[in-house]
Amino acid sequence: MTTANTADPTQLTLVALRDAITAKQLSAAEATRCYLDRIERHNPSINAFHEVYADRARARADHADAGKLAGPLAGVPIAIKDNLCTDWGRTTCSSRILENFRAPYTATAVRRLEDAGAIVLGKTVMDEFAMGSSTENSAVGPTRNPWNPAYVPGGSSGGSAAAVAANMCPGSIGSDTGGSIRQPAALCGVVGLKPTYGRISRYGLVAFASSLDQIGPFAHNVTDAALLLQAMAGHDPLDSTSANLPVPDYTEQIDQPIDGLRVGIAKQFVSDANHPAMTQAVERASALFRDAGAEIVSIDLPHTKYGIPTYYLVATAEASSNLARYDGVRYGRRAEGVRELVELYSRSRAEGFGDEVKRRIMLGTYALSSGYYDAYYLRALKVRRLIKNDFDAAFKQCDVILGPTTTGPAFRFGEKTDDPLTMYLNDIYTVNANLAGIPGISVPAGLTDAASSSEAQAGGLPIGIQLLAAPFDEGTLLRAARQFEQLAAFSTRKALG
Ligand code: GLN
Repeated sequence: MTTANTADPTQLTLVALRDAITAKQLSAAEATRCYLDRIERHNPSINAFHEVYADRARARADHADAGKLAGPLAGVPIAIKDNLCTDWGRTTCSSRILENFRAPYTATAVRRLEDAGAIVLGKTVMDEFAMGSSTENSAVGPTRNPWNPAYVPGGSSGGSAAAVAANMCPGSIGSDTGGSIRQPAALCGVVGLKPTYGRISRYGLVAFASSLDQIGPFAHNVTDAALLLQAMAGHDPLDSTSANLPVPDYTEQIDQPIDGLRVGIAKQFVSDANHPAMTQAVERASALFRDAGAEIVSIDLPHTKYGIPTYYLVATAEASSNLARYDGVRYGRRAEGVRELVELYSRSRAEGFGDEVKRRIMLGTYALSSGYYDAYYLRALKVRRLIKNDFDAAFKQCDVILGPTTTGPAFRFGEKTDDPLTMYLNDIYTVNANLAGIPGISVPAGLTDAASSSEAQAGGLPIGIQLLAAPFDEGTLLRAARQFEQLAAFSTRKALG
């Protein structure tokens, strides 16, 4: 058990906070109060939370203190992305079309977190329907990067990443379809984990691209992330794509040594286009792993370069189908003064969806349309298989793959909004894990050099390295990530006043 300084609970890690509450050095009520205060103070400038459930959170904290919330997360406050359904509050996906939508049920992942004793503080801002890499596509305003408010926090789970980075909660939940947990984690200097497709039930996660979407945690460190994964993982009869496999004890193996671990490095993940700090961070990580007894092996992922076009065909095709349900009849928003049905559909959708969502629906509808289906969607599925085959072959040679999470640090607001392709290219190192269904984690790897780059005024911005592992091998992934975190000894805590 950790002896924690409980003077300011919002500075604690999730495990330290949980231990302090369990040891009754701190009440859940006091912890919750401190986080709610902090949200009140900083959310107006950061805009990480769209909705805060203060009364509900206080009531649950009292329950925890009365011994009525048992479990490994008893009394721990968390935040969840606004695309996770709850039978309280609203679930909006940061979209006008769902602005007043109240879900009739709670997502399995959220229910399991609550069953483990967690307290949901509120829902976080995201790119509309999780489409984006900066939260600039949110209909409720963008989230700001706690390291520098002139910069984006990444996306689409930008609110969940920023909430942890700004110490408004010790852990949070997001979703990752093409990088939406790992990329904002890297840009905000926190840990972000995308588990294997099927590891966590998607029941109650509003669908963007069903064959790619996966729920996962954000936290200050790898062990905290492992604890959140542990609470959510496992088969769910309500999601037929959730895997019926045993869930190992992730925290038990997390501190085991990594000597003999084979760390793969792909030449496709090395590029002159990457920020120099990113290149250095990967080289440093590789040296740290080698010094710790790991074996560095070269691997080949020859189809990597097709990841972006493949992802943006598969994801948009699935999105166009999934989003057909928002017709102005169900799920809230309806256009006023319409005379007939088709006008109701088209006006409700025209008014309810933002530009990026409309762009994706059009791209996806085109890729699926007769005459183009074979040339685009079907071909994308075939390339997806080749990308998966690359990883299958690579994991015969290595246990984890090391690379950058992004090409560089956070960018400024507006810098990429006029050019969707540049924005899409931002996902170059993350989308392939979703296409292959494998787990990936982003771990803080330092700050850009404040003095020698365009981030001069920013005082340095966080960057992250990414580790990938074979399907359902989150145990090895977390162990390697934990080792790196300890060896790099990089403090990611950003004091925000
Ligand atoms: N940035 C990617 C996109 O815009 C990934 C989004 C996500 O993972 N939800 O599609």
